[in-house]
Amino acid sequence: MTEITDYKKARQITIEVKQFVRQLIKPGMKLLEIAEKIEAKMIELGAKPAFPVNLGINEIAAHYTPAFNDDKIAQGLLKVDFGIRFKENIITDTAFTLDLTKEKKFTKLIEASEKALENADRLMKRGTKLNEIGKTIQETITSYGFSPIRNLCGHQIKDHNLHAGLTIPNYDNGNEKTLDEGTYAVEPFATTGTGIVQDARPSGIFKFESRKGVRDPIARRIMDFIEQEYQTLPFCERWIIKKFGERAIFSLKQLEQAGVISQFHTLVEKSSAPVSQAENTYMIHGNSVMVLSD
Ligand code: MN
Ligand code: MN
Repeated sequence: MTEITDYKKARQITIEVKQFVRQLIKPGMKLLEIAEKIEAKMIELGAKPAFPVNLGINEIAAHYTPAFNDDKIAQGLLKVDFGIRFKENIITDTAFTLDLTKEKKFTKLIEASEKALENADRLMKRGTKLNEIGKTIQETITSYGFSPIRNLCGHQIKDHNLHAGLTIPNYDNGNEKTLDEGTYAVEPFATTGTGIVQDARPSGIFKFESRKGVRDPIARRIMDFIEQEYQTLPFCERWIIKKFGERAIFSLKQLEQAGVISQFHTLVEKSSAPVSQAENTYMIHGNSVMVLSD
């Protein structure tokens, strides 16, 4: 049984990691160092990363985590998206955006997604229609003169399942289903561009699909490890290399080809316009709501 006190502890850890991230990141730092320090902080505080830390610069909206040999540096408009996994089945998911430009040219774009989240916040209770949340997000972002990303959305979170059940739209999509008890992430994205993201390069972020007959003994060991350690939660090549060495790169390719794992693609704004993001996780329990990330 998951207890309310466990949710409170998960909330406390998430907030502490967020404070750590805000004072950690400086322009020019390597993304790899940032991701590893954030993930290490979660472990230090008694949790695990629920998924690889995502660090999307400018038009990269989602699904970018540094590779094990990544040399990109923090600059421009940087989205930090992370979550913890506490006591195996409590998962949080949260994001914010930093303006690392000297001239602070993204202040309004960041404010738009933050304000959209703040306005959606009030609707996070039982009985709210999903399209009401989408409408509020859309109206807030367009009032700034920007567009919400329509093909990215918030989501329900269940045990070992980051994206499960209901999706929470970033625009009025006409879905009149209502919120009930459960855990939900709301994540408005604002852009100066078209408001659509598309698949770009493979991200090095994977998830387990199903066991298959795998001949190579190393690939088989990696399959066992992934299934046990992450279940269906996302993981990355960088983590597997840390555990199994660089030979794991080839094994992951074999597992992907066999359909044991699937790979996410980096999601990029279609017109290459900058994207900001804000995200919180809410736990609705009876008539009360706990924000697990703020
Ligand atoms: Mn997220
Ligand atoms: Mn999310």
